[in-house]
Parts: sequence; C-alpha cells; structure tokens
Amino acid sequence: MPTAQLINELQSCGVRLADPKAGHESRRGGAGPSDHKAMTVDGMTVMVPVHTAPAFESPYVIEKPDASGYSMVSRDGVSLGSISFPPRPRFYDRSTSDDVPYWKIAVLHSRDVLATTVLQSCIRYQSRTKTCQFCAIGQSLAAGRTIERKTPAQLAEVAQAAVELDGVKHMVMTTGTPPGRDRGAAILAESASAVKAAVDLPIQGQCEPPDDDIWFARMHDAGVDSLGMHLEAVTDDVRAKIMPGKAQVPLERYFEAFEAAVAVFGHGQVSTYILAGLGDAQEAILATCQKLIALGVYPFVVPFVPISGTPLESHPPPAAAFMHQILEPLAQMLRAGGLQATAIKAGCGRCGACSALSTYEREATA
Ligand code: SF4
Repeated sequence: MPTAQLINELQSCGVRLADPKAGHESRRGGAGPSDHKAMTVDGMTVMVPVHTAPAFESPYVIEKPDASGYSMVSRDGVSLGSISFPPRPRFYDRSTSDDVPYWKIAVLHSRDVLATTVLQSCIRYQSRTKTCQFCAIGQSLAAGRTIERKTPAQLAEVAQAAVELDGVKHMVMTTGTPPGRDRGAAILAESASAVKAAVDLPIQGQCEPPDDDIWFARMHDAGVDSLGMHLEAVTDDVRAKIMPGKAQVPLERYFEAFEAAVAVFGHGQVSTYILAGLGDAQEAILATCQKLIALGVYPFVVPFVPISGTPLESHPPPAAAFMHQILEPLAQMLRAGGLQATAIKAGCGRCGACSALSTYEREATA
C-alpha cells in the first residue's frame, strides 16, 4: 500500500496499541485535533488517533516496539510494515522558576514542532450552544494538564529550551478567542515578540480574523512568520450546526481577511484548517480549496477526530476513501497553484502531521 494511503487509513481508523506506553505522551484534550499519538511511517511523522472510540475498535494494531525501537503494524494479522515513535522531549523534564513544568506551557507536536495555546479559554467555549462541537480546549485545563494564560516570558523560556535541548524547528501559537475586537491577535503578537527576542524560531500564529486588518502587520512585525485562520467547515449550514459561535463571523469576512493577510505574510504563508467529515461534501471542500489556492492560501484538510468528552465524541470520523477522494486531487491542485507544505515557514501546514496531505503532495511530485 502506498505510504499516503497507509497514513490515511491509520488516521481515519485510528490504531490499537499493544503497548499503550510506547512513544511519548499523547495529546489529550486541548485546542484543535487531539487524542493522538505521534508515530513515524516511512520517514513521515504523523498524528494517529489512539484514544478515540473508533481507535479502540480499529482493525489496525501496533505491536510493542522491538529492541531497536520499531513496531510492526498489522491488519487482521497481516503485517503492513513498521513504524517508530519519536522520543520523549528533554525539555519536558524542566520547570520554570515559579515551578510550572515546561510541558504545561508548550508541548512537542509531531517530531520537531513546539505548540502552545497561549490562552486556554475562549468566548466560544462558554456555553454548550455556542461552543465549537469538536473542541476540547477546556478539558486539558480542567484536568490540570496546562495553565490558562502562558505569559510571554514563560513562552520565551520554554521555546529557547526546546530549541537547545530538542532541536525544534518551528512553533505553533494558537489561542482561544478572548473578548475584544482583535480576536487574539494582540496576545499572539506580544508572545511572538518575546519568543523571537530569546531564540530564532519560525512562528505560526493562529486566530480568528481580527476585526481590523492592521493586526496582520502588527503580528508580522512582532515576529509571526505565517498565519492560520481556520475555517474548520466550509458551508454555512455545517458551520452553523457545528460551530454556532464562530459561524457568527461570516465566510465573506474570512475571505477578505485571507486576502489582506496574504498581502502581509506572502503567497503560501497563510493557511486554514478544514476538518473533513463534519458534513461538508467532497465537492464543497474541493471548491473552497480551489478558491483558497487562487488567493495564495494553503488549505490544510484534516480528517475530523471525535475527541472524547466533546459533543461530537460519537460522530464517526471520515472513511479513508472519503479522505482519499479529497486529498489526491487536492495535492494536484496545490501543485498547479504553486503551493507546497514544505515552503511554509511555520505551522500546521508545514508540520502536516494531522493529515496525509503532505504525503500525497510528496507522491504527486514524485
Ligand atoms: S499539524 Fe498542527 S496540530 Fe497537527 S501535530 Fe502538526 S502542529 Fe500539531
């Protein structure tokens, strides 16, 4: 099976781990996709669901690692190859002078990405009717796995250590949406500025479109190298149903903001997360991607993962065939539009671990 399809299958079905302790700590709760574990398949490090309900019944099994750290992947007893797990980062063993463990401030995603949620609360998360139905931003906070507000000084300290001890290559700064018109751009700017003063690390900021486009230049000047503004769903019906609070910002505003942001950050340095499997048809997702690519925006299409404890925990993830029918033509569209994951300076699109898209891109190029 080609690597892109194997990754797509593993991400859609999840896996059962014969040794749940294999690899370093998995992501549980938090903003965005979660309940994964990082694993490396044919040189590509990807996040594969391990704590979701479908993963517990997955036909894919990963055996205990052998003495050299490799684990066999099998389906129905038939071996499909081997994977390995990235090692536990060394910066996880440190704490700040006020005794906050570094892993509560930022975590390692995939193999070489430092990720933080600067503000672990969100105006969209206040009530069951307004919350984005897939999001678990409050769960990791309630479980004591993170702190609510990471200060610029804390972020700078952890980023420096993660570069020095673990060789991280770029940083993702996301945020819950605070009250106020900048929608998080201000705290991203002050955080990026502090990190850049401490260490030379490319940074992606992620927020909703701010009310005033001036924030794009402010974030860029502060040290944000690339920007993510995440659509998640692409049609009005699905947006209203799945993310009623965030859907109050209309799609038109997102597209205006994309255009203004590309003018500041550059062609291919603005991206958006699209969660496939929430109800949008393949045609609708591909049509939106085409529009985004024409603007110079990288559409990072990711299979929806049903996170335990969220209103969508029982919603099925998309079938591997559904993802394949999106990712294969999308890789060709990206190529034709002159966009590529590897050209993004920082962020989810460059990391690519939550989707098989970059592997499809690699195979399309080959
Ligand atoms: S794609 Fe984004 S959310 Fe997924 S592992 Fe990479 S940095 Fe983290």
